Amino acid sequence: MRRIFTLTTLLGIVLNSYGQSKTATANLPGLASIKEADLKRDIFELAGDAFRGRRAGSEDEMRAAAWVAQKAQQAGLKPAGDDGTYFQYFNMRRTRTADRSTMQVGDQNFKMGNDFWITQPVDAHLDGAVTWLNSMADTSANLQGKIVAVKIEAPKPLPAAGMSLWEYRYTASAIRQQGMALRRRGVAAVIFVANEITEKGIAFIGHNYEDGSYQNVGLTTTTRTNLSNGRAVPVILVRSGLESAIKQGSNMRADIVMETFLYPSVNVVAKAGGTDANLRNEYVLFSGHHDHDGIGNPVGQDSIWNGADDNASVTVGMLAIGKAWVAKPGRRSALFVWHGAEERGLLGSRWFAVHPTVKKESIIAVLNGDMIGRNSIDSAALLGSIPPHRNSTALVDMAMQANRQLTKFKIDTSWDDAKHPENWYFRSDHAPYAQAGIPAIFFTSLLHPDYHTPKDEPQFINIPKLAKMTRWMYATGWAVSQTMIKPVLDTK
Ligand SMILES: [Zn+2]
Repeated sequence: MRRIFTLTTLLGIVLNSYGQSKTATANLPGLASIKEADLKRDIFELAGDAFRGRRAGSEDEMRAAAWVAQKAQQAGLKPAGDDGTYFQYFNMRRTRTADRSTMQVGDQNFKMGNDFWITQPVDAHLDGAVTWLNSMADTSANLQGKIVAVKIEAPKPLPAAGMSLWEYRYTASAIRQQGMALRRRGVAAVIFVANEITEKGIAFIGHNYEDGSYQNVGLTTTTRTNLSNGRAVPVILVRSGLESAIKQGSNMRADIVMETFLYPSVNVVAKAGGTDANLRNEYVLFSGHHDHDGIGNPVGQDSIWNGADDNASVTVGMLAIGKAWVAKPGRRSALFVWHGAEERGLLGSRWFAVHPTVKKESIIAVLNGDMIGRNSIDSAALLGSIPPHRNSTALVDMAMQANRQLTKFKIDTSWDDAKHPENWYFRSDHAPYAQAGIPAIFFTSLLHPDYHTPKDEPQFINIPKLAKMTRWMYATGWAVSQTMIKPVLDTK
């Protein structure tokens, strides 16, 4: 029986791959359950201001997670998190500079978050004279033990033209390079005075420093240290307008206090059972993230970073796919993981990849989506589709075939190039799964000017595009669910 069944299915696949495009939609029985009206209603809810940007570790993220779980339940999906619930909680440690940190130069008080920022959390007390360095090229002075002030210089190389968050990248990489060089010269502290370019992005850059950094608690693989050479050196960014207040020889005092918080975050996990007695213990995993950036510095009048495209788009897309799967189940089961804390460093997917709620071996493919509702309706990208990122040619072929048969996007592969400066492949939730040795791909409609701004709002979502991308993910997942030949990892 089993053998014959296998042969028949194989024939089906072979026939399919020779362009039976008429049968494409007939082969996708749940397709009609993916409706633009549902996607639109859901994305306006989840990315509405009421959820206040769903920041990981906040009650807003918790409310969003509860919303997703309730919607999953309404779609007919079963709980697949911990202890028979839709939830898998995990802890994050946030380290940041406390607001009560102070800095004075001469008799002028600087205000943290307005005049200055500490670029890496550290505990420090400083009291000493400022040494001005005219340029980084000046290597004559002895800076040992000194509080050194210098104007930020351009990093080498510059971030590529047109990259997202350009001023931020420029500043972060300048501070990293020039801070490291000064640390090697034994400085006690660095004051970087913003130049024009840093000043242009300072609201975003400063907010980032105020946020501090987040890490998983209890995962040894993600432990990072703030001290690159074992010695904490405060690195302070000061607004350009204060340059004249920081004079050679003037006394600088600072009390910099680091604070640490433990926050919970949560993955929402649900499943739809498969129909095949032999295959239903295997899962195709649909992946997205429900969190975004929360409340930030206002841009214009708006301080809510709604994250409609990033990543309410995939969150609601997965609900539609869930509905389709419940209506017409595949042979294998489908697992839906809406990760928490992606924006804080892929913390939810890092956690789930190490602590999956189903056997790790039973996850045969991960189809991750991040930002699928913007840009031209005819184009899209699939990351993990070319070497060295590709880890399963078989899985990529299934996605490409689904696209040829159904959605017919022109595929932009440039972002999957290992030399692409954005390093986009490493910036979403499929990455920890790929690292754990599971075939994984990443669907996206790529960046846009509203990326990570308060303007990533639901009214700018291209709903037909969102529906089309959702259908592509569904069709690929369906192929994975039905195939008798599991998509395997490439052997390198
Ligand atoms: Zn995202």
